[in-house]
Amino acid sequence: MNPLNILSEDELLFQQEIRKFAKTKIKPKVGEMDEKEELDSSLISDCFDMGLMGIEVSSDFGGSEGSFFMSILAIEELAKVDPSLSVFVDVQNTLVNNIFSRWGTLQQKQKFFPRLTSKEVGCFCLTEAESGSDAFALQTKARDEGDSWVLQGKKVFITNAKEASIFVVFANINLEASYKGITAFILEKGMPGLSIGKKEVKLGIRASSTCEVLLDNVKVPKTHILGELGKGYKIAIETLNEGRIGIAAQMLGLAEGAFEGALRYSQERKQFGKTIGSFQGVQFQLAKMACEIEGVKLLVYNAARLKDAGLPFTKEAAIAKYMASEVAERVASLSLEVYGGYGFIKEFPAEKFYRDVKIGKIYEGTSNLQLQTIYKHLEKWELVLA
Ligand SMILES: Cc1cc2nc3c(=O)[nH]c(=O)nc-3n(C[C@H](O)[C@H](O)[C@H](O)COP(=O)(O)OP(=O)(O)OC[C@H]3O[C@@H](n4cnc5c(N)ncnc54)[C@H](O)[C@@H]3O)c2cc1C
Repeated sequence: MNPLNILSEDELLFQQEIRKFAKTKIKPKVGEMDEKEELDSSLISDCFDMGLMGIEVSSDFGGSEGSFFMSILAIEELAKVDPSLSVFVDVQNTLVNNIFSRWGTLQQKQKFFPRLTSKEVGCFCLTEAESGSDAFALQTKARDEGDSWVLQGKKVFITNAKEASIFVVFANINLEASYKGITAFILEKGMPGLSIGKKEVKLGIRASSTCEVLLDNVKVPKTHILGELGKGYKIAIETLNEGRIGIAAQMLGLAEGAFEGALRYSQERKQFGKTIGSFQGVQFQLAKMACEIEGVKLLVYNAARLKDAGLPFTKEAAIAKYMASEVAERVASLSLEVYGGYGFIKEFPAEKFYRDVKIGKIYEGTSNLQLQTIYKHLEKWELVLA
């Protein structure tokens, strides 16, 4: 295995390609996308054309056949410039494709992967108005009607729902069995009864769509069940364990983007006849940010490399997400301060990073829920000195 932050030649080339894409194509559109609260359609096409929407998927199904680590690199690089486009790619790879890879039948893979890797967006529909952290209290029901299941309910806060045509929906086939009734279904745009509800207006990652998904007696063929009946809770937990490394990478990239802006500005802005970066006070602010970013990078890469190696990674993923969102929030705030008054206005990128960063502590498990997972692992801690 590679040392954590030393990339292989393939990984380096991949990283450079995305970096170039981010700088030349995404960066000029970031402000406008934030303002309009939508992703630019040509950038969405670019993501498909570059193979970024099926990074780990087998080439037999049109994928790029990369590693999970490469997905993490892509999410990080994109977030340096735009955390919204980053989460767009993140959800497709770490949640939707991941579910199809692990639990999809060969027929499901043959049907959906060529679409997911070439032009169609997927979304992950778990959260409901009354069930967020307590996700398994979900109330969306699925009734057995012979040759199909019929889904009734409402999902909220679904990332990519506006662009999506493939929906992984968690519904309960037997509410009395509680979480043991939860089952994962594949829904497709155009199925009667499936519609997109309210699109949320947000503090940050405004270009990323967050919508309600309405299910009004949607008839779903029996062949559209992912995994086993009643095992949807396991699919959700295990997928989110991996997914949160993606969010950690989004926060890492965001911190790096905010930091780079501040570093550059400190070398240009002059006060008292000198660049502000020549003052030790500012240098120490920047040095502290660099230390925190380096620490988080190792945590995120470690979690991703463990996953690729087939080793346990749940605790490491939770730590990576918890720490990355903490550090990114501090870095986004301090970076904004390096810009002084200019940090507070929209013309400079610091303001947007500061708004975008808040979501890192909320989705795919709030920080409290990450701490809960981390603590569960402490209970198994082997005391060697006590
Ligand atoms: C922009 C955005 C995008 C999202 N994308 C998706 C998506 O694509 N798919 C999807 O299914 N969901 C998505 N979500 C939902 C997201 O995962 C939930 O909002 C999140 O899990 C928190 O749930 P909640 O909002 O209901 O908060 P709550 O669960 O109500 O939590 C409120 C507060 O209580 C705390 N809390 C709750 N339970 C405990 C506990 N046991 N111990 C300690 N503290 C606790 C929480 O930490 C939090 O501070 C998205 C949300 C947003 C805002």
